[in-house]
Amino acid sequence: MNINNLKILFTEEQLQERIKKLAEEMNKFYNGEEVYAVCVLKGAVMFATDLVKHLDMPLKMEFIRLSSYNGNTSTSGKVNAVDISLPDLNGKNVLIIEDIVDTGLTAKFLLDFMNCNFHTKSTKFCSLLDKKIARVTEVEPDYYGFEVDDKFLIGYGLDYDGYYRNLRYIGYAEKSALE
Ligand code: 5GP
Repeated sequence: MNINNLKILFTEEQLQERIKKLAEEMNKFYNGEEVYAVCVLKGAVMFATDLVKHLDMPLKMEFIRLSSYNGNTSTSGKVNAVDISLPDLNGKNVLIIEDIVDTGLTAKFLLDFMNCNFHTKSTKFCSLLDKKIARVTEVEPDYYGFEVDDKFLIGYGLDYDGYYRNLRYIGYAEKSALE
């Protein structure tokens, strides 16, 4: 895959503008209450760090690491918890921050994990991107930035074989460019 084959889907400006709007919604909802923001590594790292800069309440950041992708562009259909150590979240407002909800298996895994392990005050799931068309579970994010088509997206945290997470925009490559 060559970066010149990437077609831009969301520019840096579009991403940042939408993220500010999401943060405004969240500031209204939480109304100054403390939040534990749980960033799902590695893909959500850019989104989470930009989002929390616009959140006004007392906030702690936690990081967990999951993986579901096989090599380059296909999901394994199975979620692996690489590192999911979290503090005591009983009675807390938990905001899970993901890059993209695709099949929804990761989101379901995380929400089940939270339910089984903690009685939180609230658990909200936020994803920058929502690939609704690819869903195989009934999970829907409480907040999402953009609905996207069933394309393999790259950039702004989303990788291709570990590369391109550092792009400031999100693009996609045609299938032929990914082979
Ligand atoms: P799900 O469990 O919903 O199928 O997938 C969630 C994870 O798959 C995401 O957190 C992300 O890491 C990866 N993923 C899903 N779609 C894409 C995509 O279009 N591009 C990239 N780079 N990763 C994706």
